[in-house]
Amino acid sequence: NQHTPQHLSAIIDAFSIEGTIATIKPYGSGHINDTFYLKNEDQTHPDYLLQRINHAIFKDVPALMDNVKKVTEHLRKKLAAIPDSNPKKQVLTIIPLKNGLLYFKDVDGNYWRMYLYLTDTNSYDLVEKEIQAFEGGKAFGRFQALLSDMDATLLAETIPDFHNIEMRLSRFYKAWSTDIAKRRDEVNEETDFINKRVDVMKSILNLGKEGHLSLRITHNDTKFNNVLLDANDKAQCVIDLDTVMPGYVAYDFGDAIRTIINSASEDEKDLNKIKLNIPLFEAYTKGYLSEADKFLSAVEVDSLMMGVLLIPYMQAVRFLTDYIEGDVYYKTNFEGHNLQRTRAQIQLLKEIEAEHDTLVGIIDRVYNELKNATTLIS
Ligand code: ADP
Ligand code: MG
Ligand code: MG
Repeated sequence: NQHTPQHLSAIIDAFSIEGTIATIKPYGSGHINDTFYLKNEDQTHPDYLLQRINHAIFKDVPALMDNVKKVTEHLRKKLAAIPDSNPKKQVLTIIPLKNGLLYFKDVDGNYWRMYLYLTDTNSYDLVEKEIQAFEGGKAFGRFQALLSDMDATLLAETIPDFHNIEMRLSRFYKAWSTDIAKRRDEVNEETDFINKRVDVMKSILNLGKEGHLSLRITHNDTKFNNVLLDANDKAQCVIDLDTVMPGYVAYDFGDAIRTIINSASEDEKDLNKIKLNIPLFEAYTKGYLSEADKFLSAVEVDSLMMGVLLIPYMQAVRFLTDYIEGDVYYKTNFEGHNLQRTRAQIQLLKEIEAEHDTLVGIIDRVYNELKNATTLIS
């Protein structure tokens, strides 16, 4: 890591912390920010987490931190009103600078922020068990539910058009027309696959435009390692709030399902290995809807499956765009890596399409069971 202890100490000094930091160490397996764990000398004081925000990806850090502040304040207020909740452990707490600002800008132009470190928590990169999928779904369902009464237009778009398929497609077609790396003739089959699905993949956007889907506050990076689990592996806190912004609930659902349902890795070369893990899909759906059923409209419930189709499709479009452009965005480990990733996402989508009715059936059954249970209670 390029950040020296002296440099980090000077940064830490700007923050309004309690006690004295005894050790600093690189932390976690996030791919976006540089994260450091700060251990307090005296354990009557809290430990902290220092992060350099990736401002190559997040261009407007002040707006990003303003989003995080608004969202964490709202979550804290909502949780405080729920019996047995523990807002200190269930929401991120921003540690401001001594001068009150929410981030520190160093001499190199890097932005830094600090959170309270949440002790006795675990996070995992991969979902392997149904109980984990359930807890992941519950965490993101609850997150959306608690934010469902907050005005989404209060938040900035930290990455504009992040899940906008029209924009992703227009970039793809632009890359295709320019054909700068002379690769477009290699990808006729993949291009055909994308072309055939353009209309159906705009369903969520169109429902939104027509006013049938509400613009909500969504997380937009619903990976399992963005949920902190407690010592008993129960969901405790949703973290990594950099991409929290206005969106449609189906984006978060589809984003989580894309990895959970895939028995192989994102860039699997052997397409025969790409199979659906339907029990994990069902477990995530159960966890998610157990919290989200309180606020979702019927159209939103119907839109969830559109998200399950859309997110792998969008990922295929993005990988193929990068391949055609000569691998300029994603890090690649070998020649053709982006094409291999594209093919793996297309295969995943084919599998999902083949099981479309089964998956819709699961969503509907889980939702109706929850609805019937609530009717019986009330
Ligand atoms: P990235 O955007 O790089 O994924 P994250 O905010 O997700 O950054 O942080 C990286 C890792 O640090 C997380 O996966 C988690 O393991 C850990 N982490 C983040 N915030 C906290 C926190 N407040 N308390 C404890 N661990 C945390
Ligand atoms: Mg993360
Ligand atoms: Mg992140």
